[in-house]
Amino acid sequence: MKDKTTAVVIGAGPYGLSVAAHLKAHNIPTRIFGKPMDFWEHMPANMYLKSKWSAASLSAPDGKYKLDHYAAAIHSHEQKPIPLAFFLDYCRWFQEQTGLETDPTYVQSLVRDGEHFHIELADGRTLEASHVVVAAGIVPFANIPPFALDLPETLASHTQEHTDLTPFKGRNVAVVGSGQSALEYAALLHEAGATVEVIARGSIIWINRKLYERVGPLKHIFYPPSDVGPAGLSWVVAFPTLFSHLPDQTRYTIDKRSVRPSGSQWLRPRVVGKVRLTPNTEIMEAIPQGDGLHCKLSDGTARDIDYLFLGTGYKASIERFNFIDPSLRDQIRQQDGYPLQNTSFESSVPHLYFAGAIAGFTFGPICRFIAGSDAAAHQISRHVARTASSIRIAVPA
Ligand SMILES: Cc1cc2nc3c(=O)[nH]c(=O)nc-3n(C[C@H](O)[C@H](O)[C@H](O)COP(=O)(O)OP(=O)(O)OC[C@H]3O[C@@H](n4cnc5c(N)ncnc54)[C@H](O)[C@@H]3O)c2cc1C
Repeated sequence: MKDKTTAVVIGAGPYGLSVAAHLKAHNIPTRIFGKPMDFWEHMPANMYLKSKWSAASLSAPDGKYKLDHYAAAIHSHEQKPIPLAFFLDYCRWFQEQTGLETDPTYVQSLVRDGEHFHIELADGRTLEASHVVVAAGIVPFANIPPFALDLPETLASHTQEHTDLTPFKGRNVAVVGSGQSALEYAALLHEAGATVEVIARGSIIWINRKLYERVGPLKHIFYPPSDVGPAGLSWVVAFPTLFSHLPDQTRYTIDKRSVRPSGSQWLRPRVVGKVRLTPNTEIMEAIPQGDGLHCKLSDGTARDIDYLFLGTGYKASIERFNFIDPSLRDQIRQQDGYPLQNTSFESSVPHLYFAGAIAGFTFGPICRFIAGSDAAAHQISRHVARTASSIRIAVPA
């Protein structure tokens, strides 16, 4: 007999775990697939979060199991910045406290058949569900610039491919990009003993939060705890369901203004004076030569390097979720690769929800950060609870 459940959550990162915790509180039979915090487990161990303490908690019902609660439970205190290892320990604690059981198997195929979804897993098992939440993160969205598309991984790759940077000791490397990832990888590579140059299309900007640092508790007049976007505007970004009602062009403009590539202040002394910074310059061509790469830059100069790191960010597109069967993908109304969603995060396919960066077109820049998981989890779980009772799948005891 086919395995059946009410809800399936695809993904066990901050979004998947938060949504699942809320579904559990609504007593919705739910299965969660994906490796818990997999994406974060693959970051270099000595990284720090860009998010501030108030913006890095997962979401559970009644405001439970936040970072503050974890710190109190282990007799620790607020971390500034938050070390990756601390955050991962917190997420494991969150999963223990919420009692969420995850299945690390990947979903290979998602198809809709009448009122139900058919899910095929990588190990061949199949499952039927009435509601599906896609919270599968950003790994497939890694943005590779055209000049690097044909380069072998032995010479160039996206920063997300690298956990251990020690093999780059003594090597001459370049990092493309000026966001937090690019700048933090540059610092870590320098600290691992590489000679590093950052090449960025625009300026190198360090987040300047004088207002935030100087006004104490009053900072929340200008910045909500979610802390995505510049002073003032961050309050608009903080409420994704209200944000979703703004006109398309307004949402687009706010999005662009809110997530400009920049680095945290605490990172600055680890980069400035330590690595060569080449802003306002693009790599026009990168040609394999000998054991390395010959890069031609837009300022007319050239570099010979051993390895190129692409800290070139992510571009969300539903097309990149290979597990969604084309027949289902065709039914999802989209704009620029993003699903169009109602305020419950439901796509145009009934009972198919999207959370995380892929929901950014409708719900704005907060979806690219942990801070957006609270709204997604509340909205989705309420909608599933409301609608699950009208569609009964016989769940085996
Ligand atoms: C270097 C770096 C640093 C960052 N720092 C911060 C930060 O400080 N603060 C912040 O808020 N954001 C940060 N981000 C953004 C971060 O990626 C998101 O906030 C966060 O990961 C979003 O969570 P998620 O649950 O959507 O995705 P993820 O954390 O990526 O989780 C995705 C989950 O989906 C699972 N999965 C994928 N495909 C399948 C499949 N087919 N079947 C089953 N499971 C699947 C994975 O195993 C994983 O469990 C950073 C990003 C990068 C690249």
